[in-house]
Amino acid sequence: MNITHDRHSPNFNQRPWTIKAVVWHATGGRTSIGHLCDPAPVNADGQPDPRLVVSAHYLISKKGEIFQLVDEGKRAWHAGADEIPGHPGEDPNDISIGIELENLNNDKDPYPDAQVTAAIELAQQINVRYALTRAAHVTHHQVAPTRKVDPLGLDVDDLLDRIFVAVHTSATAPTAPPLAEGDTRANKTYRVITNTLYVRQAPNTQAVIAARVYYGQRIEVDVIKTKGTEAINGDVRWGHLANGIGFVSMRYVQEA
Ligand SMILES: [Zn+2]
Repeated sequence: MNITHDRHSPNFNQRPWTIKAVVWHATGGRTSIGHLCDPAPVNADGQPDPRLVVSAHYLISKKGEIFQLVDEGKRAWHAGADEIPGHPGEDPNDISIGIELENLNNDKDPYPDAQVTAAIELAQQINVRYALTRAAHVTHHQVAPTRKVDPLGLDVDDLLDRIFVAVHTSATAPTAPPLAEGDTRANKTYRVITNTLYVRQAPNTQAVIAARVYYGQRIEVDVIKTKGTEAINGDVRWGHLANGIGFVSMRYVQEA
């Protein structure tokens, strides 16, 4: 995943360092990168007026390029004066990160795979940084149901399924598979200790990548296999994720 830092929006101000949510948007065409980076118009007092301009922390192009326009620690102006579900009385822009997806927002314009893949990877890293759960991800439409429809045409449930595919999901986990020779029951939560760890469909590095997990992320392992696995730096242990998605080398995780 590559984040480009060569465009910046001047449209931000200070906020408390309490990030509790991610708000997903579609640009609607109008809110192009140029618009998001435009200098802030000022009000009658010569002060930047958040009501007149918009910005977001990230913009993801249809090609999957990620532009960081505002630092996560600053307050971007993307979610208006409404309310994030579950956070009554809190200013949405105070507590959220705004991600704009380049899209016409007409329910017909597609969100290409490259764009969705970039969105997933970015969201997974944000989740790790602020320990965000699935409930913390909302659409602009959910924040402002009477004013906003974006991101129209995006399968948000599918996006969130894919963002949260490899993390702790014990509530919905299928029953652990029966033990084969060399297997031990784990049923424990582990923490990823390498930057990017591939979840494979089988316990070897030739197998198809089912998902990626990142440093600090927690995964639940139900079974550890030691037979028929590939040794990674001499370590033959591969953990089967309790959500059934695949296997990770235990070399790169630690008990949480
Ligand atoms: Zn929006």
